[in-house]
Amino acid sequence: MMTPTSRAEAAGWPAVAFPGGAIIPDWGAITTSRAQNALRAIVEAFIGPKWDGLDETESRIHGIVLSGYAATGHAPETADVAAAAGLTRDEADGVLRRLAERDLLVLDAAGRISGAYPFTDSPTEHHVAAGGRAMLERDVAVRSACRHCRRPLVIRTRSHGRELDQVEPIGIVVWSGHRYAAGCAASSLCTLQAFFCEDVHLETWRANSPAAGQEGVRLSLAEALEIGVAIFAPMRMEWPSWIPTT
Ligand SMILES: [Zn+2]
Repeated sequence: MMTPTSRAEAAGWPAVAFPGGAIIPDWGAITTSRAQNALRAIVEAFIGPKWDGLDETESRIHGIVLSGYAATGHAPETADVAAAAGLTRDEADGVLRRLAERDLLVLDAAGRISGAYPFTDSPTEHHVAAGGRAMLERDVAVRSACRHCRRPLVIRTRSHGRELDQVEPIGIVVWSGHRYAAGCAASSLCTLQAFFCEDVHLETWRANSPAAGQEGVRLSLAEALEIGVAIFAPMRMEWPSWIPTT
């Protein structure tokens, strides 16, 4: 069910209740109207339709996959996921397929996990998506590149991924596209969350890619981080403690 949080109810801010009790996103993490608009678009286009109505097993498996990614930086094996969840391999395969149909994760042709938003095993321009830092609950360095000029970008966080520390160059901005393209979340949503070394390069990119560049919100890095915290800090509560065996 789509369950508005009480503090957001008056404003009509959308949210989704997970079976374990987490309400996503946490609108209390958002401090600016631009971040509010970007997050509303993400929830309405993606989180609401795709994540609404997960059953307990699906939610638990999803958490196991995410915690595996966070612990190792790559996709867990299906056999390990099944073992962690107490399911047979066939049962786990079935749940993984249902999660893939919801775009919560990506399976390769052989049925192996190859991505789970915001993590992906395929090369992307940023190693950890804008929303992923808070998910990791630790301080990380994000190496990315300007979507326009390919200049390397470095972003380091502190306070367990909740605050920005080092940002190089200082003028980095984020484009949060409103459009949810057909396809898998782990690639398509990352594609719509592009980093730029400065505003001029964001504007140049928008001018030259009318389809991708028009509908969306320009965010500061701090605002992008707020969105990541709003989405992933509540989700973290859903994760089982799980020591990967690989
Ligand atoms: Zn640039």
